[in-house]
Amino acid sequence: MPLFLNIETLANGPVELKGELSPEELEMETLDELVEANQPLGYDLTAERTGENVLLRGSLWMRLQCECARCLRRFEHHIDLPDWSCLLPLAGAEKIELTGVSADLTPYLREDTFLAFPQHPLCEPGCGKTPKRTGGGGKPLKMREASVEPGEASVWSKLDNLNLE
Ligand SMILES: [Zn+2]
Repeated sequence: MPLFLNIETLANGPVELKGELSPEELEMETLDELVEANQPLGYDLTAERTGENVLLRGSLWMRLQCECARCLRRFEHHIDLPDWSCLLPLAGAEKIELTGVSADLTPYLREDTFLAFPQHPLCEPGCGKTPKRTGGGGKPLKMREASVEPGEASVWSKLDNLNLE
């Protein structure tokens, strides 16, 4: 169910909020066909009243199904916001919308998680940066690190063959 916070309960001290928001509740639109947000957003938060604000603090996490923008390999991207915080004003022009005494926190979690989405998903940092073999004259280029898995190396040699055609 959506994440509602009863503002009045904060008068008794901080409130713990733990759970998951399903993709349906998030209504997350990724606007990027390489990123699929089809898994729940997890949260473990503390809400507390600080003056005329509610302070939300804690961690957010989500797994995304991505396709590498360069090699098209599918991989899972983990979003982890371990020190997330958000200040929700209860008064003033920016004050949050209440339904009775409850605030729907879903949009705030959704927004910051969305901002953490990869703009240009890569299966690993540096994917696709193959050393140039032609041209000569330049500095000798290092081959890819030895830690590369054999499976991926073969993908690269296939790509190299394509380049030659
Ligand atoms: Zn890749």
